[in-house]
Amino acid sequence: MINEQLLNPKSIVVVGASEDVMKPGGKILKNIVDGNYNGDLYVTNLKSDVVQGIKSYRDVADLPDSIDLAVLAIAAKFCPHTVEVLAKQKNTKAFIIISAGFSEENEEGAQLEQQIVKTINEVGGCLIGPNCVGVLTTNHSSVFTTPIPALEPHGADFISGSGATAVFIIEAGMAKGLKFNSVYSVGNSAQTGVEEVLEYLDYSYEPEKSSKIKLLYLESVNNPQKLLKHASSLIKKGCKIAAVKAGNSEAGSRAASSHTGALASSDLAVDALFKKAGIVRCYGREELANVAAVFMIEELRGKNIAVITHAGGPAVMLTDALSNGGLEVPAISGPKADALLEKLFPGSSVANPIDFLATGTAQQLGDIIEACENDFDHIDAMAVVFGSPGLFKNEEVYKVLHQKIRACKKPIYPILPSVVNVKDDIEMFINMGNVNFPDEVLFGNALTKVFNTPKPVMVNGDDASIDVAAVRRIVEAQPNGYLTPEAVQDLLDVAGVPRVKEFVSSKVEELQKAVDEVGFPVVMKVVGPVHKSDVGGVVLNISSGEQLVAEFERMMKIEDATAVMVQPMASGKELFIGATYEPGFGHMVLCGMGGIFIEVLKDVSTGLAPVNQDEALEMIRSLKSYKIIQGVRGQKGIDENKYAEVIVRLSNMLMHAPEIKEMDINPLLGEGEKVIAVDARIRIEK
Ligand code: ADP
Ligand code: MG
Repeated sequence: MINEQLLNPKSIVVVGASEDVMKPGGKILKNIVDGNYNGDLYVTNLKSDVVQGIKSYRDVADLPDSIDLAVLAIAAKFCPHTVEVLAKQKNTKAFIIISAGFSEENEEGAQLEQQIVKTINEVGGCLIGPNCVGVLTTNHSSVFTTPIPALEPHGADFISGSGATAVFIIEAGMAKGLKFNSVYSVGNSAQTGVEEVLEYLDYSYEPEKSSKIKLLYLESVNNPQKLLKHASSLIKKGCKIAAVKAGNSEAGSRAASSHTGALASSDLAVDALFKKAGIVRCYGREELANVAAVFMIEELRGKNIAVITHAGGPAVMLTDALSNGGLEVPAISGPKADALLEKLFPGSSVANPIDFLATGTAQQLGDIIEACENDFDHIDAMAVVFGSPGLFKNEEVYKVLHQKIRACKKPIYPILPSVVNVKDDIEMFINMGNVNFPDEVLFGNALTKVFNTPKPVMVNGDDASIDVAAVRRIVEAQPNGYLTPEAVQDLLDVAGVPRVKEFVSSKVEELQKAVDEVGFPVVMKVVGPVHKSDVGGVVLNISSGEQLVAEFERMMKIEDATAVMVQPMASGKELFIGATYEPGFGHMVLCGMGGIFIEVLKDVSTGLAPVNQDEALEMIRSLKSYKIIQGVRGQKGIDENKYAEVIVRLSNMLMHAPEIKEMDINPLLGEGEKVIAVDARIRIEK
């Protein structure tokens, strides 16, 4: 667990410090010194008495008795003993091990790692790494890499599962003026992983003091529930979190016995988890850096953006990106717009995009921003595109932009594309504390992504309506594998999922009796095979006794047939609900329309159980086929609240049945207020 000794150590020892600053042990010492660390700094080196001008100890045993933080840059095999001495004799409570050669390498290394964790846990200490770049806080720069970004309390807290990637993300961020408050490279996460750092940031969060921006780079989600808990908690406290989760192409490798199995992957579960937590999911460094830069600016509260530019092209591309992402670049007109136009050179336009021509001045930019801030009430934010063709410098313009960003209430996004022509002016602008988006489309995509990410779910599912004991009874009574039609019926009934009446028997006379009750036409289905239609095991619209007998005899001869089921004919559009159990995540619930929508277009939405009514509605509304669910061209739609209710009910039932590894209702027939299951499969594994 992260502690004060790691974040704000009174003393640091660099074990294995080197004179050579191109070596990790040399660079990390240099970074700590250059970062003006103001506590006591010690170094050890087997062979030297002085390293980089600092007195060096040959043996950690000779160090003074109390040292808060140890940074280890020595070979893996020497680490366990060194940690032992520091933890037990020097009262050291925080360790950063940058050395490699542990669990990432081989079994032997894994054992060394375990030994170290055990020692540190015994003294209640914190371990970062091994095999990491280090930790950077406003108090000390214990990383062996550069660049060291500008550190300030309102900068981002950045936690990375990969050291090298951490460096590249810092570089991408710095180029945009992104500030950092802390960087944690967790390496092998032997004791403290991304989730644990986030947990600490959550528990130690102080509204007035703590940074509100968290960035994560994950290669695996080791503890999904912990990530969900602390990410959503931080976001509810006012933080913004963006994350890259790399490695998402596992889907194809699964044995799939149902639609759900084929569609679901742990990556969809990551999607569902991020959505539930309110995390903005990114897929690369540039995107993460752009999203982080958006976070640094006042939050966008409405959809209407004024695009202000002196060059047509970028304004058009930006307008496209914003509109495609659901934001608007609305028209600006009226007397106040005319008054603004008066102040610009002839040929300018204020219609939005506001184009004040290649000859536009700093003064004019100021006037435009003032008008957007004070006169055009429907404008929520401004994006200013201003570069240079190399004929002029932009110092004056960027100073005005800087002042206006500080003075205006509406967010202003600076898009300064001339990273070569006016490199110095952009640097000046960034050094004044601003961010810059060099590319308008990447900016537009980042802004819309942030704007469209739902807030975390505030209330969890309400499962008061579920008879938990009954769910347990049914699940416990069944062997592993696919549940019988009767058990499926019972579970749907307990969950309160409306289903079509059905009757199962291996005797044709009993089926005939059932049909006498419900009346023709009916549907007959073979019981036994998993995919009934594929083996000719589903016949719709049976309308006579003779047909019933003939189909019964045929179906009982199908391989694996044990009985035949009859159902009344139902009508409606085919909907789908599925669920899989992802270890650590819990149940992921999927929904969409059946038929080609699911098979060809793979149009599904996901949610993590428990799913509440709002989440279920949002799942339905984010489907590409949503318009069809609503009803198009005079066709009757489906009551989305009823569909959502079924999703909620199922997800509630699943919360009490972790043995259900896979299930789908395919189809669920929907028409108006009627949403009714006609086919369900449930597979359990205990
Ligand atoms: P399987 O998925 O094993 O092939 P289903 O029970 O889903 O079998 O039946 C196949 C198709 O038959 C469904 O997708 C649906 O279009 C139709 N169907 C099944 N049961 C009914 C029913 N009771 N009323 C109307 N149509 C039905
Ligand atoms: Mg089916």
